[in-house]
Amino acid sequence: QKARDPNKKTLVILGTGWASVSLLKKLDTENYNVVVVSPRNYFLFTPLLPSCTTGTIEHRSIMEPIRSILRHKRASVQYYEAEASSVDPDRKVVKITDNSEVKGATVETEIPYDMLVVGVGAENATFGIPGVREHSCFLKEIGDAQHIRKKIMDCVETAAFKDQSNEEVNRLMHMVVVGGGPTGVEFAGELQDFFEEDIKKLVPEISPRFKVTLIEALPNVLPSFSKQLIDYTENTFREEKIDIMTKTMVKNVTKDTVEAEITKPDGSKELIVIPYGLLVWATGNAVRPVVRDLMAKIPAQKDSRRGLAVNPYLVVQGTRDIWAIGDCAVAGYAPTAQVAAQEGNFLAHLFNTMARTEAQEARIQELSSNLNLVQGGTPPAEAAQEIEALERQLKKIRNVKPFRYTHQGSLAYIGSEKAVADVSWWNGNLATGGSLTYLFWRSAYLSMCFSTRNRVLVLLDWLKSKAFGRDISRE
Ligand code: FAD
Ligand code: NAD
Repeated sequence: QKARDPNKKTLVILGTGWASVSLLKKLDTENYNVVVVSPRNYFLFTPLLPSCTTGTIEHRSIMEPIRSILRHKRASVQYYEAEASSVDPDRKVVKITDNSEVKGATVETEIPYDMLVVGVGAENATFGIPGVREHSCFLKEIGDAQHIRKKIMDCVETAAFKDQSNEEVNRLMHMVVVGGGPTGVEFAGELQDFFEEDIKKLVPEISPRFKVTLIEALPNVLPSFSKQLIDYTENTFREEKIDIMTKTMVKNVTKDTVEAEITKPDGSKELIVIPYGLLVWATGNAVRPVVRDLMAKIPAQKDSRRGLAVNPYLVVQGTRDIWAIGDCAVAGYAPTAQVAAQEGNFLAHLFNTMARTEAQEARIQELSSNLNLVQGGTPPAEAAQEIEALERQLKKIRNVKPFRYTHQGSLAYIGSEKAVADVSWWNGNLATGGSLTYLFWRSAYLSMCFSTRNRVLVLLDWLKSKAFGRDISRE
């Protein structure tokens, strides 16, 4: 283990997602004893996760090991594969637990910090709806995508089983997605592609029964996109034969049915029961237990519901040395990778500046005490000159502006080689959808991949699935 330098502050960073990795990328690790804690020893490029559910992209192509990322830092960083189970802001310690399969004699310990960054993201929202956790698949982590990929093929092969009843084939081939946000829409699009391009050819006997239904509680899907793109997406889905049920709120889930309440045009409500083979639950984010626990310990957080409320410098309100970034922070922006990455970059700049400021203040102190010495040290005239120069520099670097998010646009894949994009264009907004936007979507995400290795692997996966079809083996 790396020895702790007693002259440097210990900076503990929780998480290896968009926010924390963006911070780590730009942080000058020479200035602090940096410790990273996360149960996931890799960074995950989430925008391409829906493509892993059908095998368009293989999961390892969008993962980057945290240890490879840290290897390139100027000063070494300590990484622990563990979950932060609680934070004690009074004692300034984080309790960490090894929840992985292989455990040693020590599974729980504490890390003291001088500065703490919470970047643990969010968990899946279920709103306490009965049966969701037990029976549905989520789509947030690599394991979720692998689970879905396996389950799609299990449903198809089980539907093709000898003497399966008609009713049962219909149920098994019914893929239901709950939540019409970007996650649900992108997954539904990928699923329909998989069916049209591969399953239909390879398992033709049951193909007429395959059906994808997207259920959304609000009057339309993709509420954060412009009206024109919402209409474009809904029309494309209709053409692709994806069933969209809007104004439909799921209330209960059983092992093979979803119970939902539809609001009809006259305002009356009807309860319907929908049989399913695969159920994917994509209804957004909820606060993680470690964050909830920390919020409960800080009186200033008592009115915050969706995460740690932060000030414009991303300091957790009501604390001194804790910052929060990404999906677990409430800074007034949507919980997206774009926001998380910009917050991480901002914090790296802030911490680099803080370290420079401290170093310069220490130098000023040293020089000013030299001024009183008769012998030794820097000659008084030179010391006075250096102090003046340092103070001028300090003035500049102390002037760090608060965090401001710059929205670069939203992109989503909607299936059949079409995408929608709401992008900032000159001083206005450009809303566009179709095949050209799909090429833009692909090139944008390819260029945003974490490393050249990821970029090459993703590109090869795209070529591979186009040339040979997706691999339908059920591992
Ligand atoms: P995450 O990236 O989720 O990272 C959280 C990290 O904390 C993980 O490493 C996790 O293992 C770790 N962690 C969890 N619990 C603990 C704990 N107790 N202690 C320590 N560490 C912990 N956004 C976009 O802008 N564009 C997109 O195209 C897009 N596509 C998406 C597609 C999907 C399928 C999903 C699910 C999300 C997508 N998003 C997209 C949203 C984006 O992924 C999130 O906003 C982003 O990941 C948030 O970053 P984060 O660092 O806060 O959290
Ligand atoms: P979301 O919060 O954007 O959407 C969830 C949807 O589920 C909402 O529209 C909500 O009305 C619906 N819902 C909630 N409860 C329901 C119920 N009981 N029955 C039916 N519908 C219900 O969630 P998401 O799509 O997972 O996205 C999470 C975050 O990640 C968002 O900020 C999103 O912008 C971001 N993201 C972005 C992209 C992209 O830019 N391409 C892709 C995925 C996720």
